[in-house]
Amino acid sequence: MISKYSHSSLNSFRNCPRQFKFQKIEKPDVPKRTTADAKLGDAVHRVLRFLYQRASDGKLMSFDKMLAAYDAEWEGPIRKAVVVANEYMTVDDYIKNGRKMLAEYYEKHQPFDQGRLLGAEMRLNFELPHTRFGFLAIVDRLWKRPDGTIEIWDYKTGRRLPLGSKDPSFRRQMGLYQIAIQTIYPEFERIELAQYWLRHDEVISCQLRTDEIEELLEELRTDVHAIINAERLNDFPTREGPLCSYCDYEHLCPAKRHRLMLDAESGNGGGGEKATAESGAELADRFIKANEEMNRWKQEREALRKEVIQAARELEVDTLCGSATSVRVKLKSEECLPTKSQSPDEYAELSHLAGKWGFENYFELSTSQFMKEAYRKGRLTPEQQEQIKAYVRIKDASRVSIVKRKNPENE
Ligand code: SF4
Repeated sequence: MISKYSHSSLNSFRNCPRQFKFQKIEKPDVPKRTTADAKLGDAVHRVLRFLYQRASDGKLMSFDKMLAAYDAEWEGPIRKAVVVANEYMTVDDYIKNGRKMLAEYYEKHQPFDQGRLLGAEMRLNFELPHTRFGFLAIVDRLWKRPDGTIEIWDYKTGRRLPLGSKDPSFRRQMGLYQIAIQTIYPEFERIELAQYWLRHDEVISCQLRTDEIEELLEELRTDVHAIINAERLNDFPTREGPLCSYCDYEHLCPAKRHRLMLDAESGNGGGGEKATAESGAELADRFIKANEEMNRWKQEREALRKEVIQAARELEVDTLCGSATSVRVKLKSEECLPTKSQSPDEYAELSHLAGKWGFENYFELSTSQFMKEAYRKGRLTPEQQEQIKAYVRIKDASRVSIVKRKNPENE
């Protein structure tokens, strides 16, 4: 059971539930890679923390000392362990970029006393309001402006500038930090959120309204319920994407292992798993072929069905005789109402009218919708949740689908 959630752990679950399970539940002992992007972020954050902590003690760190502290962050064995994912960049390029970001920041903000520092890299443990879910938020800088406004700052060294303060990634991260601060310091009234994008020298800031915070709280509660449900059913599917190249668990990943087994066999001459892996590959090929044939037959059948109806209309008959048996055609039109999946809005209006006129029995409870929207999202009271649990069955919901494999050359 996860005891503490954070912005990054919720993100990890959204990006790939299986990676989340490796990271937070199974925790296998695998060599961890430090990417150059992550190292750059760490080094810059640490130096900015020193700068502000010194300044709040009335000591200005000199420009040269700041750069020396930054360079020291890259020294030692860590430098050799850093992985550069970008083929046109080197570790030195990353170091240079960090220096440039810090130099520009220093020139612009020294002597770092435009407000009062309340905390730097603060680790805030709190419970999500109206729940027992423990959360951790790490706030880069908590700052009090002379006009009394509290600023929550987050530094970014990445490339992808969000699309303003409405960007969901901005809102989710910074909104969570606001919830943390307001939970711990309810006396703070005016709060402003800001992300400083050092690479672009851009600040994205906003103040979130109470209703926006309430909406975010509901989203966060839903996310936590999704994780709790995944744990209960041990349902952590893989979700392949660009982040796989940075994943430390690729060799253990159920989406990647079969390919690795097959590749290892052709390279190293096999092992105990060879026969099983190969028969798995054969089975996949047979399934794909059968599926293609079935789709072709389905399309052909549908085209023939339409032709048969057309022929019956033209001949004005309701039976077409084949050589041994016949095909009966019932030409018919009928009135119908939209189904829920065809038109959810009209369906909602109709169910409202039916209820108003006393015909509610004709509208069935959609147990799957109720399960998805009310039970899984934790929208019921704890008592209601318990009551519904008595009816909950666990069914095998396994699915088999065909995915086109990307050309490894282009991956
Ligand atoms: S390799 Fe990709 S799909 Fe597999 S766990 Fe890692 S991120 Fe998820």
